[in-house]
Amino acid sequence: MTIWFDSELHRLLQQRGQLPHALLIKGPQGIGKKDFGQSLAAALLCENPGPQGTACGNCSSCNWLASGAHPDFRVLSPATESDQEAEVEEGARKAKVSPWITIEQVRELHDFIHVSSHRGGRKVILICPAEALNVNAANALLKNLEEPPAHTHFILISHRPHHLPPTIISRCRQLSLGQPDPEVALEWLKAHGVAEPEVALAQCSGAPLRALAASEAGELQARRAFLTRIAPANFDPLQAAEILRDLPLEQFLSWLQRWTYDIASRRMLGSIRFNPDMATELDVLARQANPLAMLRLHRKLVRQQRHIHHPLNARLYIESALFAYAAVVNPALKAA
Ligand SMILES: [Zn+2]
Repeated sequence: MTIWFDSELHRLLQQRGQLPHALLIKGPQGIGKKDFGQSLAAALLCENPGPQGTACGNCSSCNWLASGAHPDFRVLSPATESDQEAEVEEGARKAKVSPWITIEQVRELHDFIHVSSHRGGRKVILICPAEALNVNAANALLKNLEEPPAHTHFILISHRPHHLPPTIISRCRQLSLGQPDPEVALEWLKAHGVAEPEVALAQCSGAPLRALAASEAGELQARRAFLTRIAPANFDPLQAAEILRDLPLEQFLSWLQRWTYDIASRRMLGSIRFNPDMATELDVLARQANPLAMLRLHRKLVRQQRHIHHPLNARLYIESALFAYAAVVNPALKAA
């Protein structure tokens, strides 16, 4: 699906014989690390790999993988998306989906690891995202990493490797992946039918898979509607807060934080990083707002974004953030 990590994959597969039993693939969210891990798994399991070591796509192992039922392949993840959908369909009784990979899931690997492989080759375990391992699960996994069974590969995927225990990290070889070249990413987004690839990519800090998801979820238009509402310097914070009351706080903060960044950046550096489609509005605000005050507000919003999982009162928070923003874009308001 993703093509931009081909050379990294080929390089890794050249060492097929000496590949570490545990590999930690890290990098920003939404760049295709999981796809990379799956391609690597497919290559390791393939019975007839191509000249560069990649999976053939035709052998029985590749077919097993494609059907999602390879007996020598396991994925450890928090409750899967299809589980989540099932729970939503169940209706009112909204069961909470665990954000964690549990110790039970790791224990279930025991038989898988210690029974010889069904197809006589390797076994691969993909753990994604690895930071979802809770403390007990990580400890249980550690035992496997310390005494690695033969012909078994663990592929850990993480965009928050600092959340992993050092004991796990120290037993993995690490591979860092970064954002693909923007031109490649834009072409890929266009090929996937994204109408505003530049905006989507800018909004998602150059991560194409996130950009695709955001575009498909209609986030770009919702963001534009939000920003259009708060772009006029004389907008009414109370009225805006009322209209925005159902907006998830995380979304609100992320949009406002990037917006304030763009206003300050437009004024001080002349560039727009996140909202290239709103240049006209940004130019007006950049001319009239105090750039240092805007930067201070931006930093405050970024700090608050980190603690957003424990929100006080979302409605009150949105109101006060909008008042703080209004005071910077419209100094007259402060004086009034
Ligand atoms: Zn194959």
